[in-house]
Amino acid sequence: MKKGKIIVLSAPSGTGKSSIIRQLMEYPELHLGFSVSATSRAPRGAEKDGVDYYFISHEEFMRRVAADEFVEWEEVYSGTCYGTLRSEIDRVTGEGLNIIMDIDVKGGLNVKKIYGERALTIFILPPSKEELEKRLRSRGTDAEEVIRKRLDKADYELSFAPQFDMRVVNDDLDKAVGEVREAIIR
Ligand code: 5GP
Repeated sequence: MKKGKIIVLSAPSGTGKSSIIRQLMEYPELHLGFSVSATSRAPRGAEKDGVDYYFISHEEFMRRVAADEFVEWEEVYSGTCYGTLRSEIDRVTGEGLNIIMDIDVKGGLNVKKIYGERALTIFILPPSKEELEKRLRSRGTDAEEVIRKRLDKADYELSFAPQFDMRVVNDDLDKAVGEVREAIIR
């Protein structure tokens, strides 16, 4: 497999993307490096700065937008921004790895527009809306208002699924990981 591929995983929040990515990172033959995004939100649970995200203030985020430091960025939730730093792409490709990104649907489609064939965009689908709600609640780290916001957004996000290179339903984690792994190796 040629290195320097850009693998994008997008999905409504709670679909299990992070678990899929965590498992994929365990396969050395995939040569994956995780693209750590910058965000203006506060860390959740055990999240670590520089590992899960680069946690920065809204002001700092906007300063970096103005300095053209992002490949793409979105206000994913009202008042909360997330973006892929150019320096992050350089860091991961500099290590001779393929980059794997966990970014929102619009960001995913933008990356495809920018990188074309070099990018593989994968949309992770929940088995059902009910299951998605159950998963978001069981995480137990978010306030009710945050959960409602995410559920409202899910319908909108799901409407973008047909524009991705491929779709994978996550009803069984190992099976979903296997399907994504196959697609990366292909
Ligand atoms: P969370 O707050 O649950 O970690 O992430 C919220 C959403 O932001 C997820 O859909 C995640 O994929 C998205 N996201 C994370 N990093 C980026 C990024 O760099 N760019 C874009 N466009 N979305 C991102």
